Amino acid sequence: MQAINPLYAILMLVSALASTVVCVIVWRRRSTPGAIPLLILALAMAWWDLTYFIHWIGLPRPNPNFWVDATYLGALIVPAGFFTFILYFTAHAHWLKKWLKIILISEPIISLLLFITDKSHGIFFAGLRVEGAGTIMDGGPGFWFNIVYSNTLMLCAFMLLFKKAYDQNPVIRQQARILLFGALFPWFFLLLGLAEISPTPNMDLTPLGFTFTSIIFTIGFLRFHLLDIVPLARDRLVENLRDGVIVFDTFNRVVDINPAAQCMLTLDTHTSLGKNAEEVCKHWPELLEQVKNNSSWQGELVMEKNGQEIYLDVNTLGFFDHSAHFAGQLVEFRDITYHKKIELDIRKTNQQLQTQLDENQNLRFLLQEQAIRDSLTGLYNRRQLGEAMAREIARCLHTKEPLAVVLMDIDHFKTVNDRFGHLTGDLVLESLGRYLLTNTRSEDFACRYGGEEFLVIMPNIGAVEALRQVEEWRSHMDNAQFKHLGQEVHITLSAGIALYPQHGKTIDELLYSADTALYQAKNAGRNRVLTMEDHTP
Ligand code: GH3
Ligand code: MG
Ligand code: MG
Repeated sequence: MQAINPLYAILMLVSALASTVVCVIVWRRRSTPGAIPLLILALAMAWWDLTYFIHWIGLPRPNPNFWVDATYLGALIVPAGFFTFILYFTAHAHWLKKWLKIILISEPIISLLLFITDKSHGIFFAGLRVEGAGTIMDGGPGFWFNIVYSNTLMLCAFMLLFKKAYDQNPVIRQQARILLFGALFPWFFLLLGLAEISPTPNMDLTPLGFTFTSIIFTIGFLRFHLLDIVPLARDRLVENLRDGVIVFDTFNRVVDINPAAQCMLTLDTHTSLGKNAEEVCKHWPELLEQVKNNSSWQGELVMEKNGQEIYLDVNTLGFFDHSAHFAGQLVEFRDITYHKKIELDIRKTNQQLQTQLDENQNLRFLLQEQAIRDSLTGLYNRRQLGEAMAREIARCLHTKEPLAVVLMDIDHFKTVNDRFGHLTGDLVLESLGRYLLTNTRSEDFACRYGGEEFLVIMPNIGAVEALRQVEEWRSHMDNAQFKHLGQEVHITLSAGIALYPQHGKTIDELLYSADTALYQAKNAGRNRVLTMEDHTP
């Protein structure tokens, strides 16, 4: 007659349903790291519950122990599933090296094989199995090895989880506590069973704990983002960071340095760890000062590496412990050589462009000047005269200010050429031009009117002042000596002045009047200045 325990069977069915809910939720999140081991764990729990249910409700079986034996499959898988899931959750998935995977997979398989074939070798039970018992509580070396192995795995997982329960990240901390709480239930029920405090005496109460585990895990999924927000291995993150990171403790000693920082600063982890900032940063006094002052700083470092200049963008950042006490300083280095070189290239190109632009502008100015200036004397050429005269007359008409037009001619210049040569004549013309350029006001307009004739328009100047000014020029020339090829040349000037508006109101009238006054000055004996009115009848 088959032993039936309906109360226990119902409890197992409830537990199996709870584990199935977990399976469904995890399946939906199966792409998350750690979801597959958790799914295996939930399936193993469901299997454990379900086979007990079938056994204790009295469903048909090929042999009396068939379903209890089937349960053992779940019991073998649970520790490995839980341990692997916790490795993922606590960001230790990188521990899952090939050898560990082989152990985690092969141990349940070997145990199962020993379990199934026990009758032929007795390694598993050593004849200690109690026939008809609802649970397997004793055995031989195989049995105990599996007990020790499973509990070691569980203990490791609990220790990792416990550490994570005090994580800095509040979300992760909360999740770890939920997992810890949920996972403790099966052990709690196991202890209840051993203490014989049970509604179903002599029964394995471990799967009953799974009910609570499943309910708590479900709350974790739905309320606390379990498998939604997965912690990442911070250490691994820093290791793989392309930016360099050095961590100094409160005594300014290097406590961490990542490969990128080693490479950038050509430092070595083994020799740098524990070293003082003074030694590590000896080439960068600016950075050393910031590290010593524990201040947040952002700056640039330039260093030589393999004969090349490396530019680093550096950030220093103080960090604090849970009680807000200063805990050390993190220095972050970013290689900005590429960007810096581009920036320098752009700056250089900009400078070149600016120089080119300046040169072009100068050239344009020179061309403009060449177009409006006489090349020998530097004065305006005659083409500019019409425009200048028109402008000044229009202005005088408007402002009612006076205007003087002065026409000058070198006396007997032909003789100068004849006696001293054309080149000397040129030199005289050039000197006179330079003299007029520097001895006229900025508002005056001085131009080369013809071969050795010069015209100056002087705005806002009366007859007396104009005469005084031109007389000064004349007198200067009379007293000057030009020296060329060891010869001394002396010249004199004759000048005629016409005033606006009394001697003319148009360009032609004024030029005519000035020319007439000049003619009069020549006739009067040269080397003199006459104003038109002096000789008007
Ligand atoms: P004056 O005006 O006193 O009556 O006598 P002048 O000898 O100066 O007579 P005129 O005005 O007729 O002669 C001007 C001379 O100026 C003629 C020409 O050889 C000379 N001349 C004109 N342009 C230039 C020039 O660019 N260079 C030189 N060296 N001589 C010039
Ligand atoms: Mg002349
Ligand atoms: Mg002349």
